[in-house]
This record gives sequence, structure tokens and C-alpha cells, in this order.
Amino acid sequence: MADYKINTKCVQAGYTPKNGEPRILPIYQSTTFKYESSEQMGNLFDLKESGYFYTRLQNPTNDQVAARICALEGGAAAMLTSSGQAANFYSIFNIASAGDHIVSSSAIYGGTFNLLSVTMKKMGIETTFVHPECTEEELRAAFRPNTKAVFAETIANPALIVLDIEKFAKAAHDNGVPLIVDNTFPTPVNCRPFEFGADIVTHSTTKYLDGHAATVGGAIIDSGNFDWSKYPDKFPGLTTPDDSYHGVTYTEMFGKGAFITKATAQIMRDLGSIQSPQNAFLINMGIETLALRMEKHCENALYIAKALEKDDRISWVEYPGLESSKYHALAEKYMPKGTCGVISFGIRGGREAATKFMDSLRLAAIVTHVADVRTCVLHPASTTHRQLTDEQMIAGGISPDLIRLSVGIEDKEDILADIMSALDNI
Ligand SMILES: *Cc1c(COP(=O)(O)O)cnc(C)c1O
Repeated sequence: MADYKINTKCVQAGYTPKNGEPRILPIYQSTTFKYESSEQMGNLFDLKESGYFYTRLQNPTNDQVAARICALEGGAAAMLTSSGQAANFYSIFNIASAGDHIVSSSAIYGGTFNLLSVTMKKMGIETTFVHPECTEEELRAAFRPNTKAVFAETIANPALIVLDIEKFAKAAHDNGVPLIVDNTFPTPVNCRPFEFGADIVTHSTTKYLDGHAATVGGAIIDSGNFDWSKYPDKFPGLTTPDDSYHGVTYTEMFGKGAFITKATAQIMRDLGSIQSPQNAFLINMGIETLALRMEKHCENALYIAKALEKDDRISWVEYPGLESSKYHALAEKYMPKGTCGVISFGIRGGREAATKFMDSLRLAAIVTHVADVRTCVLHPASTTHRQLTDEQMIAGGISPDLIRLSVGIEDKEDILADIMSALDNI
């Protein structure tokens, strides 16, 4: 499978039925799995044999879907979680605990910003936020002796800043820690962060991977490239025996699978944010058309962004696919096939004009969502980011007049006509 290209992987990776087995990945709707002897079950518990025993730990449907996403990213191991929030939390909490420190891009999803700045802070894990466009010196200055990871988004939601992945990977590696990137917006079809030095990738599969706004879910993929055993004092959870799991030392027993095995055997076991096999099945169906959909999302978004750019009623447009974008060069480097279907822009006339515009749209729906086949629109300042101060929003690259438009796969002329008629209504 490793040699196939991305369209082929979208359709074929993961589940490979044997002779006489179902063509389509079955939904293993079962909490548990039967064994003939207690001894065998004991070996499974000790991680001496691999096999299924309880769906909170592993389920065959989920595993095949994780394997497909793993193949798309070019990783070594992967797991599904109940949401993107759980994926980001687990990816960090797997290697950081009370007293530790994280360096994070300030331009990230509002939920992740709260996770780091409020909830994980309460757990004793502190985060220093740096702007993704900071200098190498500013980035270096953010590290402390107890820093355990660097976190960022490959395309920031909703600021649409493209991450300089190599700059962040180098800073992380110079400080002996992994770079974790949330690759939700470009998807592995448009960007494969491992090729540029990222160590761990997370996804909110709720977005393009599902693509139909049907399921909330997440995924964590490990490249297997970060050498935890080189820094045993930094990552004792991976490099010393886990007393809560029969003295297993994850790096010794699982090599490139160490990070994901620990996240499953310890963090998922104890916190339990599993994805339902039903949802995993739906994600799997979604991924089969991911490459086709991303191409259309990007074509439509560029068409709309170009039209908005020419319109006097629009004060600014940000879309990394536009040549005028500050992030176009980074987009060309890291995601040459296209970026994503999300555009952000401001309307002249401030908050009032923005509200009137939103309420006049007929095809584009106002929803707290992005990245599905239907065009949708959101004003973050009055919804997803309302708990942030103006300063926090601006630091995250989001101006209070920002409208986030998630361009769907409808006919682009229909989407544009809807936008133009709503602008006429202001
Ligand atoms: C939506 C989103 C999340 C959170 O994912 P959920 O599945 O809603 O929990 C995290 N990161 C990014 C970039 C997102 O867009």
C-alpha cells in the first residue's frame, strides 16, 4: 500500500478483505470479543499477544479506519478518538503531565486554545503561545527545560495562516521534543506533514475526512520518527516501565508503535474517549471520496476568493490559494495541490453589515461547522470565539469582523450568486 498514490489509498487502504469476506468494511458492533481460554485473554491484557477484547481499547472497525488514515499520512501507527478535541488532548497528554510545558502556535482552533490555556493549565501543564510567523529567535526563546512538545495547525482554523512546518519542526527537534500538528484543514490529500519533519499528526475527522457533517471524531497518527529513547529523562512515560500496565516499557516493546500503544493502553483505557464503530464506518465511506472532494472544494474556494477580492464591498480576503495571500508561498511549498475550501474575509460596514450579510444568504447556511459538502458560513467573534478577548482573537490572527466561509462542492456559480445577492442586501 505504501507505494500507491493518494487517490488509490483513499479508496483501497486499511481494510483488505480475504477470500469470501465482506467487500465493505463491516461494523463490529460489539463491546467485547470471545476467547476459548483465560490464558489467551491474559496474554492480551499483558500486551503479549495482539487481539481484541474490549472496544474501549480496540475495535476491528476502528482499527481498519485508523490504518487507512495512517496510510494517507504515511505514518507508522494511528488511532481514532471520539472527537478532534480528544485527539489533540491525548496527543499532548500522552507525553506531558503536571509540571510540564508546551510551546504552541497562537493561531489555532478556539477549542484547542481553551484546552491548552485553561483546562490543561488547571492540570498543571502550562503553554507558551507564539505567533506562527514569529522569528526563529522568538520561537527558540519560548522553550523551557520542561517543554515536552510543540503544537500547531498546518492551516490555522479560522485564521488560515499556513504553518512553516520545517521552521517549527527544526525548533522542536533542536530542543529534543516532537512537533505535533493538527492537519484537519488541508487533509493528507493536500499536505503530508511527516514529509516536512512533523512527528505526530492529529485530525478532527469531523471535518473533511467525514465530509458530510454526519459524525464527530478524531484521529492521531504517529510518524514513528521521533526517537523517544534518545531523551529518556524527558519522556519517562514511554521509556520506563508502566506500573499501570504490568511493567511494559513502550519504546522497548513497541518501537515505532510506542506512542500510539501508550495512548491506547493507558490514556484511552483510563479516559475512554473512543469513537463508536458506527462513526468510524461513516468516516471510512467519507474518505473514499476525500481526494475528489478536496479538488472540488479547492477549485470552488479559489473561484469565490477571486471574486470577493475584486468586490469593493469586501474589505479584505484571506485564502492561501490566492496569489495575493501572505501565505501563498508557504502554501505552494507545503500544499502545492491546493489548500482547503475555507475562505475568510471582512465586509465593509463592520459587525452590523456582517450580520445582515449572513442573514441574507440562502444557499450558504449559518452553522458552527466547516469542511462539509454544503457551503456554510460563520462569524467567529459572535460564536465560536466569543469567550476570547479582542486581544486574544487578534493574537490568534482573527479580526472581529472576520467571516469564515466554508465553500462546499455545489456548482460554484450558484455559491457566488448567493454571496452576491446577500451583499446586495446590506
Ligand atoms: C474542529 C476542529 C477541532 C476540534 O474537533 P472536534 O471534532 O470538533 O472535537 C480541532 N482542530 C481543528 C483545526 C478543527 O477545525
